[in-house]
Formats: sequence, structure tokens, C-alpha cells
Amino acid sequence: MSLKKIIIIGSGFSSLSAACYLAKNGYDVTVLEKNNTVGGRARQLKKDGFVFDIGPTFYWMPDVFERFFNDFGRSTSDYYQLEKLNPAYQIYFGTNDSISIADNFDAIVNTFENVEPGSGKKLKRFIHKAHVNYDIAIKDLVYKPGQSIFEIITPKTILKFYDFILTIKKQVSGYVKNKKLQKIMEFPVLFLGAKPSNTPSFYNFMNYADFKLGTWHPKGGMYQVVQAMTTLASSLGVKIITDSEVYSIELKDKRIKGVHSKSGYYECNILLSGADYHHTETLLPQKFRQYSESYWNTKTFAPSALLFYVGFNKKLKNVSHHTLFFDTDFEAHAKTIYDTKEWAEKPLFYASFPSITDDSSALNGKEAGIFLIPIAPDIEDTQDIRERYFKQLINRIENITGESVSDDILFKESYCVKDFKEDYHSYKGNAYGLANTLLQTHVLRPKLRSKKVTNLYFCGQLTVPGPGVPPSLISGKIVSDLINKYH
Ligand SMILES: Cc1cc2nc3c(=O)[nH]c(=O)nc-3n(C[C@H](O)[C@H](O)[C@H](O)COP(=O)(O)OP(=O)(O)OC[C@H]3O[C@@H](n4cnc5c(N)ncnc54)[C@H](O)[C@@H]3O)c2cc1C
Repeated sequence: MSLKKIIIIGSGFSSLSAACYLAKNGYDVTVLEKNNTVGGRARQLKKDGFVFDIGPTFYWMPDVFERFFNDFGRSTSDYYQLEKLNPAYQIYFGTNDSISIADNFDAIVNTFENVEPGSGKKLKRFIHKAHVNYDIAIKDLVYKPGQSIFEIITPKTILKFYDFILTIKKQVSGYVKNKKLQKIMEFPVLFLGAKPSNTPSFYNFMNYADFKLGTWHPKGGMYQVVQAMTTLASSLGVKIITDSEVYSIELKDKRIKGVHSKSGYYECNILLSGADYHHTETLLPQKFRQYSESYWNTKTFAPSALLFYVGFNKKLKNVSHHTLFFDTDFEAHAKTIYDTKEWAEKPLFYASFPSITDDSSALNGKEAGIFLIPIAPDIEDTQDIRERYFKQLINRIENITGESVSDDILFKESYCVKDFKEDYHSYKGNAYGLANTLLQTHVLRPKLRSKKVTNLYFCGQLTVPGPGVPPSLISGKIVSDLINKYH
């Protein structure tokens, strides 16, 4: 009997993950990717001897990556070399005023204690709770497909009911009073795409991931993970075709027959899309779409971003591999992202200098810099605006770190809302998908399995479990389990 044919739209982490599981389970898998390289939002930019990760740079939850490769009898170390970063990251609050988070919990407790006497003990209690939630999340929740609320109602989760009502912001302020420490503890949930005041405290398991599991760096950058997954997928028989945008989906009697793409027509028994959910539905005739425009429009999307990839002609002082510039009012910035949807006057921003620990990302004596400003999705994006924020960002770095850098810029490339839309068909140019708010968690997120088309499935950061690289790997696994169940 011939193998069932599955077409997967897109080659982001969720698609590559699903491709590996489905091929292992005996399906004939073909991935069609719009761009001419794989990896989706995690592609790579190479320029004049510099190498940049275009998207993700924080390698968190190493256990999830390990579990993925273990499922295929492999290990991450078969493909890439991991280094635990120390400091994990540094946060600037003003000129010469920063706190570094070390690579071990005892040192982090001491750091807290030095800033606010008594807070070290409280942090230990907080992280103990976060650990319990991490175990519940990883064992009982995130690997569930979100088809029914009963999947997540277990004796353990019922006891956690209050953690879904309380917000992270409230919880953190009950433990530490110092504003800087509060900002540090609120930082991990920003990865989930919503304000700490709008994120259930159950997600404090991200703090456990941060302080206990650590921040890692794959030598060569996050793109090494994409390459590892591509190598694994190919070894399992997956065909990956780049420069092959899917233009339309052909149906007969509520069943997909095939897809029309730039590289031709492909028949399939099952279609799985790891492309942005909203975009995939626009490839279907109206009556087969599950979610209306107004549904998407009322959802809380994770931010978009203004990014810069900069080659510096010298090594930079007073910065770490990951450096956060929290020298401005986050509340005011968050308001512009989620409420007023306009450019912030003085946004906080994040910087990564991978060449501090990884000499493969820049030539000797030079520094690669990646800068990210979170912004509202669908905000106006012009060259003038990008330039204005680049100037501000460089000025602030110079003032805060006390080092002049503007004369040492060899080049800069920028990336913003327009690029997210053009490159990935991203809804409103979102960078990280659909935020994990209380009303957008688990069963309340867009479904992995279409309710209107019998052989259509979705995965990725707009569905379950949510935004981020580890959740995308998990999304690929749970959708492949669903496909096995129904086909
Ligand atoms: C700037 C940035 C920084 C981030 N930082 C971090 C971080 O530090 N740590 C972390 O864990 N996560 C981070 N994330 C989030 C993480 O990168 C994403 O959650 C994850 O990569 C999403 O994977 P995905 O498979 O859902 O989607 P995508 O990566 O978007 O993949 C979808 C793919 O579908 C393709 N596609 C779209 N339409 C079509 C079509 N019609 N035909 C064919 N192909 C199509 C796209 O080209 C794309 O390749 C970051 C994201 C961004 C953008």
C-alpha cells in the first residue's frame, strides 16, 4: 500500500518538528517553504563575515529540545554544541546601573539579597512554586492538543486554579518590593507576548526556566537548531522544497485534494500548515474558514518588532551576550503596544552580542549586534521611523554603557512590520504569534484540527501551546499525534 501523502506548509520550527514525527510514523512528507531558506522566523543573515540570527536568540528550556531529539534516538549533542551563558543576561536600568543574572541559582539569590535584604528567601519560595508549575505544565498541560477543557483538568491543576486568576504582576509584587527586581521577575513572561498584568501567574514556570534551567547558546547560533532539525528530517525521508509558496488549496467535498504552489501542484491526503494561521485560512474558500476577520482582529497578538543587525568594527565594552535596556518606563511602553498601538517615545529594547561568546558570529576584533524593540503589530513602518529609532538606540547605549560606538558601525540592516508581512505572511506583522493571555490559553486558542475541512491541520505559534521555540517544537509533536489518531 502506498504511504499517505502529507504536505506541510512552511519550514519554521513547528513544521520541521511535525515533519520529523510524521515521517517517523510512516507518512510520505513534503515541506513547501515560501522563502529560499528554511527556518521561518529563525532564519540566518550573513554579511561581510558577520552571522546573525534573524529571530530567536534565547535558548531556554533545554529539556524540551533534548526530548525532541531523544524521540528520534538522538541527542542535541549529535548536532550542536551548547554553552551555558554566564551571565545569563544583564539588565540596565540607567547609566552604569545594571544587574547581571548569573548561571546558577545560589548566585542569583545573593544578587537579590544584596539589592533587597530578605528577598533571597522569598525568591527561593517563589521559584519553588514555579518549579511545581513547570512540572505540571510540561507533564500535564503543554503536550495536550487543546481539544477539550477536560484534558487539563487533573487533581494537580485543580489545586492551581488561583494561579490562573492571579496575574504575574500581582504575584511578583507580593514577593519583592524593589522595582528593579520586579522587572527582572516579570521579564520571562514577556516571551509569552502579553503584559505581566495580563498573564496568569501560572506562567511563573517561565521564571523556573530562567533561573534554574538557565540560558544557553548553541555554538553557531540558533540557526544550528534549524539545521539540526533539517538534517534529521532529511534522514527520515522528508522532502523540503524551498522557494515554493503555496498560493491556493484545492478541495472536493470538504476534503483537501492538493495545493497549488510556485513549484507546481502537489496532491496530498492530509494538509498541515505551520504558516501563520490567519494566512492559511485565506488560502481556502470563505465557507471553509473557521475564524472570521473580526475574530482575529479582537485577539491579543504578541508584539511585532523593529530589529537591527549591526556589524561593529571593534569589541564592545560593558555589555553581555544578552543585554536588556530597561532604562525607561515599561508601563508606558506596554501601553503603546497593547492599548494605544503607536510608537513609544522611549521604548525598552533588547540587545544580543553573540560574538562575545561565539567567535563564529564575527571576525576577530569585531562585534555582531542584534537589537530588538517590541512594538504594536500593524504599526506604521517607514524608513524614517526606523532611522529615528536606530539613532535613539545608539545614543542610549552610548550614554548607558559610557562607550562611544557610533563611529564603529560598519553596516546595519533593519527588519520591521513590513518585512514580517512580506516574508512570512504574518498577520499584522506580528513577530511572536498569538499571546498567551488567560482567554487565549489552551482550549481557547485556534484549533490544531480544522472543524470544517476533514484533512486539514495547523501548528505553530498561533495555536497550542503558544509562542516561542520550545512551544513550536511541542506544537509539531502534538499535531502529529492528532494526525496519527484520525488518519
Ligand atoms: C525577532 C524574534 C525574536 C524571537 N526571540 C525568541 C527567543 O529568543 N526565544 C524563543 O524561544 N523564541 C523567540 N521567538 C519566537 C520564535 O522564533 C517563534 O515562536 C517560532 O520560530 C515560530 O515558529 P513557527 O513554526 O510557528 O512559525 P514560523 O517560523 O513563522 O514558520 C512559518 C513558515 O511558513 C512559511 N510560509 C508562510 N506562508 C507560506 C505559504 N503560503 N507557502 C509556503 N510557506 C509559507 C513562512 O515563510 C515561514 O517559514 C522570536 C521570534 C522573533 C520573530
